[in-house]
Amino acid sequence: MSKTLVLVVEDEPAIAETIVYALETAGYEAVHAETGTDALGIFAERSPGFIILDVGLPDRSGFDVCREIRRLSEVPILFLTAREHEIDRVVGLELGADDYVVKPFSPRELTARVQAILRRTQGSAAEVPVSATPEGRVKRGRLELFPHRYQAHCDGTDLGLSRYEYGMLKVFISHPGRVFSRDQLMEMVWDEPEAALDRTVDAHIKTLRRKMHGIDDAFDPVKTHRGLGYSFDDGI
Ligand code: CA
Repeated sequence: MSKTLVLVVEDEPAIAETIVYALETAGYEAVHAETGTDALGIFAERSPGFIILDVGLPDRSGFDVCREIRRLSEVPILFLTAREHEIDRVVGLELGADDYVVKPFSPRELTARVQAILRRTQGSAAEVPVSATPEGRVKRGRLELFPHRYQAHCDGTDLGLSRYEYGMLKVFISHPGRVFSRDQLMEMVWDEPEAALDRTVDAHIKTLRRKMHGIDDAFDPVKTHRGLGYSFDDGI
């Protein structure tokens, strides 16, 4: 089995070095980014299997970086926080992070946490039909997502989705059966949700459906819940 690649996003060189060394000693492959922008670049290129993310970065906050990554991937994310008051945000905001560690921490504690999260997430991935491949692909039933290319395939054929269509499909597939309101979809998928309108979501749902019907006109996994929103149910 190949080693899990861990992306370490930390702007303090001494801390980053300690973490990278501890991870490599524990049998992981590690790559280091000093800024949020670098982190997103490496994320897109190398598709890490785990991300350790400092909250305080020089160019943008770790929360921001987490939000960006969560639009595309369910990769486990562990936050490093320097201050107690940041913990409330990590825990309270629905950022989708898996855990956090407060500085200062011991390298051993950190790698133990990484191991525990990987065991948990890999274990749970096996229990549900949604499974992430090592390249970060997500497969559910007839649909397969390629996060790094913003592409979705149905029965092996590229659906040619726009960015927003792709984003919504990603949200749906990650939470089968859950109903999302238009506001929630805008918040999770759009860059400037406040500028979008309810009917923008409806319009993209319509084109998303049309593209899936192009493959098979009986395939309609996106369900409309009148007055509530949309959910995903492909019958699996
Ligand atoms: Ca920092």
